[in-house]
Amino acid sequence: MSVTPKRALAEISLGSSVKISTLSDGNLSLPPEMVFGEMPQSKLTELMAKRSITLTKYEPECNVTLYRDGTNTVLFDVGAGPDFMPASGKLSESLSAMGLSPEEVTHVIFTHAHPDHIWGVLDDFDDPLFPNAMHHFGRKEWDYWWNPSTVDSIGADLASFAVGAKRRMEVIEDRVELFDDGQDILPGIAARASYGHTPGHMTFELRNGSEPAMIVGDALGNPHVAFERPDWHSGTDQDPVAAAAARISLLDQIAHDHMKIIGFHLPNGGIGRVERSESNYRFIGEPS
Ligand SMILES: [Zn+2]
Repeated sequence: MSVTPKRALAEISLGSSVKISTLSDGNLSLPPEMVFGEMPQSKLTELMAKRSITLTKYEPECNVTLYRDGTNTVLFDVGAGPDFMPASGKLSESLSAMGLSPEEVTHVIFTHAHPDHIWGVLDDFDDPLFPNAMHHFGRKEWDYWWNPSTVDSIGADLASFAVGAKRRMEVIEDRVELFDDGQDILPGIAARASYGHTPGHMTFELRNGSEPAMIVGDALGNPHVAFERPDWHSGTDQDPVAAAAARISLLDQIAHDHMKIIGFHLPNGGIGRVERSESNYRFIGEPS
């Protein structure tokens, strides 16, 4: 299935000066068992039946977040570029539909270095696509993918992820700044560790005015199981135990602080909120 990019998928304002838009990079197509195979299957079927979902195919959206505060034009992740999957890599078209050129992007901030989040950082000539942007990585995430032994330790299934990340990181190395957990990357944008999906996966707290928001990347990678059973292990998490702990901690904070949530693979642009019930959580999408 191919997705035709349009203008922003969803938009919200934070305070009087910050505008958040989510832009489509298209979608992935994954075998459902790759994500859900490790979960208790009869309970999973029950959970999905309640929501009238049949898991014969799994084609999650990819939503890149654009943050504009009047001075900075920031992208959170850059999508997959042309080489990963046929229906992904649409960010450039979505940016131009917004009337924005890659040259106008001042900062790129990465949640993690999986292909659907970083492979779009280069153009067709393998040069940086965002020539005027500083590129920001969590130090732990950068060190993991930069390490030449990662390709041997990550396992055969993900070896291409390691090669693909390193190749791109080498091109952008001289325009990279590293940040640590808790650090303010820009005014109003703070890093929050959420390790597990990848060894150094980061989420971002946006605190501008009275309405806080959290960009969760792949720490909350789907709108159903990740919220209703954050304790279940997902096949796409490199450290499933740490990823489950990160989900539970994030959901607790987002619900408690009444934060907006912005998710890379959540539906309809991925902006919404989290509702807590007595035993679990629910993703409530913003009406678009
Ligand atoms: Zn992803």
